[in-house]
Amino acid sequence: MLVTLVWLAGRYEASQVQSRLERDTADAVSDVRSALTRNVQSLQALQAGDPAPMAWEINAAELLRQRRELVRIEWRDANLRLRTYAQSPYRPVSWDAGSRESSHSDAALACTNARRLGGPAYSSSYFQPHGDGLGSEMMELCLPLSGTGRPAGYVVATYALQEMLVDLVGHNLTRSQEASFTEADGTRLAVLGAARRGSRMFTAQHLLDLPGTALVMRMDSWHGAPSLFPNVLTALVTAMSIALVTVMVVLVRDNRRRLRAERDLADALAFRKAMEDSLVTGLRARDLQGRITYVNPAFCAMVGFSPQELLGQSTAAPYWPPELAEEYRQRQATRFAGDLPPRHGFESVFMRKDGTRFPVLIIEAPLINAQGLHTGWMSAFLDISEQRRIEELSRASQERLQATARLATVGEMASLLSHELNQPLAAISSYATGSLNLLESSALPGADGAANLQDVRMAVQHIARQAERAGRVIKSVHDFVRRRDQTREAVPPQELLDAILPLISLQARKLGVRVQTSVEPGLPRTLCDRTMVEQVLLNLARNAMQAMDDPAIHPRILDIRVRRGASNAYSGWLEFSVTDGGGGIPPEVAQQLFTPFFTTRAEGMGLGLSMCRTVVEQHGGFLAFEPHAPRGTVFTFTLPVCQPALT
Ligand code: ADP
Repeated sequence: MLVTLVWLAGRYEASQVQSRLERDTADAVSDVRSALTRNVQSLQALQAGDPAPMAWEINAAELLRQRRELVRIEWRDANLRLRTYAQSPYRPVSWDAGSRESSHSDAALACTNARRLGGPAYSSSYFQPHGDGLGSEMMELCLPLSGTGRPAGYVVATYALQEMLVDLVGHNLTRSQEASFTEADGTRLAVLGAARRGSRMFTAQHLLDLPGTALVMRMDSWHGAPSLFPNVLTALVTAMSIALVTVMVVLVRDNRRRLRAERDLADALAFRKAMEDSLVTGLRARDLQGRITYVNPAFCAMVGFSPQELLGQSTAAPYWPPELAEEYRQRQATRFAGDLPPRHGFESVFMRKDGTRFPVLIIEAPLINAQGLHTGWMSAFLDISEQRRIEELSRASQERLQATARLATVGEMASLLSHELNQPLAAISSYATGSLNLLESSALPGADGAANLQDVRMAVQHIARQAERAGRVIKSVHDFVRRRDQTREAVPPQELLDAILPLISLQARKLGVRVQTSVEPGLPRTLCDRTMVEQVLLNLARNAMQAMDDPAIHPRILDIRVRRGASNAYSGWLEFSVTDGGGGIPPEVAQQLFTPFFTTRAEGMGLGLSMCRTVVEQHGGFLAFEPHAPRGTVFTFTLPVCQPALT
């Protein structure tokens, strides 16, 4: 449309120029016509008062001086013979008198016409050489002089067409215009005006019909391209077009940039989607009302529901086990109330579509959108059933290992036990023998039965005491081996020591070791698996005593202490230490001390310390050792204090 508008504006502009040109041409033609009429009158005026040829010549010369377009005026008689003439002073033309007088000359033809018309008549134009090699187009005007009914003579005036243009039209011509007289067929007779050529030419033609002949007045005008722009409409439309094209270019560029951004975005989205789809971690997003807004394929595979079954669910999601739904709902409410720390991780149990339960690790974090607004919750799920299974396996094997270690301890103790039981049994045996002897002697006549009975009673009492002692020894071992409940309980530290002291003293006595214990007064109870901790203490004490089993070492003191954690960081912990005065631990041994099956003793299993560390770490504590001055080693481990709230 804009292009059409520009074109129409151009057309309009062109038509304006054309019509101006037409007007100019019409004006020029009417100028020429009125000048010719005026000349006819002037020529008629020459004959006024029947002048003498001399006077006529003076008047005619005067007229020729004034009217440059006229080249020559002749006065001819009725037979067309020349009476007299006058020549233009401006233009020397060599006239051939003979041809001019001929009855076929243009002048004669014009006069014939004039006689017939009874008024002035013009001849057609003809080329008149000037004698200097040049020439110009001429035209004759014949004016019959009326006498008494028949022509008294003629005035023949010769016009130079070129001068006609110069004098009659030239003053109105603009610089970019060209005026010319042409014949009807387009042949140019005289031309005036610019030879300049612009980019575009306009042409107008107008007929100048004269009695006896007709000429065509033609005007050409050139217009340069810039003249299109002064036109306000054109300028406006052009400016708008340029603006529009600029806007379009900007738009196209913007659109291209937008497309590129969209493509990049789509790529990023596809990448993210591929990433989410290939994750093994389940992902789920919920809005602030708790409705599920997104689940990834891994989550669907985990719970066995399709996304359609999950999306939009809020309370009682289909993967909640019915028996736990209430608890989960409360947890969700707590979460939405903002009472849980962000990025909160916890373990939970979910139900698959087929009803089987499985443990999951859930990590929940608030979902913050690009504007920084909290729009919901994002959760990541890890199916930890496999992990659980492996943990279970390792726990079982650990337990088996511990049991083995305990049995090994028991095996070692069996010899000690036999030695320990030997004493009461020997005592029982000798008391029994003594009693039998007493009973036998009391049967002899003359014996003091009452005194014997007294002795037997005493011996039986001793037997009973020794049997009890033996029973205690066996019971302590029995207790140690059999007790296998894994529950954690709050135990006073003293009780832990008391439980193992009988067992320790068995070996201590054999090795000549003095056992010292010291428990800081007012200690709180510790939360532990009593059996396992006793085993740890027993192992450490045994290792300590074995380390002192060297003839060179004297005195042999085993020191067992319990106190509160020394530093602030350990104020919630009890610290157990077992100190010996043995040979210490060489660096190469220290490196693999806790490696299972590492031992330096021929009959050792190498499981003791590794088990000790496992047990202590299961309680959250740590087991460490350091050299003891002046000799020996201190093994230290920590156990948590029982917090009242946790009981
Ligand atoms: P085992 O007692 O069956 O050898 P342990 O794991 O209890 O297995 O001990 C491994 C090794 O650590 C022992 O063989 C011993 O060389 C060393 N060891 C343990 N306790 C002490 C100690 N108090 N003093 C010196 N060496 C020790």
